Amino acid sequence: MTTSNHSATPSTTPSVTPSLVSLFTDKVQTMQPYHVPKSSGMIKLDAMESPYKLPEQMRQALAAILTHVNINRYPNSSSSSLGAAIRKAFSLPAELSLMMGNGSDELIQIVLMALMRPGAKVLSPVPSFVMYQQVTELLGMSFVGVDFNPDFSLDEASFLATIAREQPAVVFLAYPNNPTGVILSRALIEKVLQTSNGFVVIDEAYSAYASDSALDLVARYENAILIRTLSKIGMAGIRLGYMLSHPSVAGFFENVRMPYNINLFTQATARFMLEQKTYLADCVNHIVAEKAALYDWLSAQAGLVVYSSETNFLLVRVDNAPEVFSRLRDDYQILVKNLDGQHPILKNILRITVGLPAENAKLKAALTEILTID
Ligand SMILES: *Cc1c(COP(=O)(O)O)cnc(C)c1O
Repeated sequence: MTTSNHSATPSTTPSVTPSLVSLFTDKVQTMQPYHVPKSSGMIKLDAMESPYKLPEQMRQALAAILTHVNINRYPNSSSSSLGAAIRKAFSLPAELSLMMGNGSDELIQIVLMALMRPGAKVLSPVPSFVMYQQVTELLGMSFVGVDFNPDFSLDEASFLATIAREQPAVVFLAYPNNPTGVILSRALIEKVLQTSNGFVVIDEAYSAYASDSALDLVARYENAILIRTLSKIGMAGIRLGYMLSHPSVAGFFENVRMPYNINLFTQATARFMLEQKTYLADCVNHIVAEKAALYDWLSAQAGLVVYSSETNFLLVRVDNAPEVFSRLRDDYQILVKNLDGQHPILKNILRITVGLPAENAKLKAALTEILTID
């Protein structure tokens, strides 16, 4: 019943001349493509998006603004008025430099490209955001993953020892972490900043849902970089992330950024949306309340374990995650993320992004049926 809206891809790979294949880097030849599952017609609880569509009145107001975008001209290269709007909306310290990216994905790429030297290492706890490792290896650097404990905590002493031994050019810390949802201790962040001779990127993709931010630490350490995104607060579609760093180093990263990386529609839309402070805060508050209710309901169910999280998603452990995942998708048209197979500590774990109240209700009904029948 679901119709596909993805672009046509041939079901078999056409044969290719070997001499052309050998031009590609080893990583490009062997990597698995980033898989985005078909989602049309589904209840989408898999990608940490906000479930709230823009209200009609705001759509009209935004449409009126976008009418005046002059697409014949390149965008403002430094996106300066958007930068001012971001600084104001998130109360960012004036003494730090701001750079915007086409999603925080692009900022991760920019940081890594700027530090791409032969032999350079990149370190992060694992499992964490997959792009840290993916981009590192695409750029020919080596990735050092330090395993989280099975309870999603981190052995801080061994983490710091690994940094001291490996001397990475950059350490990535997702704060809170995706996919585990936990937030590292602030004391650890500070020790990492002190131990590292390289940069430390603190990725606060979930800052709107988290109990803490490391913004004040970033101001105090020259090797600290903060990355955030608008994707998890209702604007995944416009692709906008921002990065704060010290003015002493910001220029190096700016050298890597393509001049017109933030398109005019994104700039205009973000400026409009950042003025809708009450609306944005209401959406976050609704998601937080729904997450708490969903957490309580899940904790009362036999046959699963739910983990607390400082994000807009919850992790649950079930007896057979691949099966529960497929049944949710095929029998109930509910798409969640199956993390089983990504890392040993994610065995039988599903990641569920908080949806609309009606969507969460359908998820609960589906889980009730699946877990009792089994
Ligand atoms: C979602 C996510 C990102 C990517 O965000 P975009 O701005 O949409 O590219 C980066 N880091 C973490 C930890 C995330 O969960």
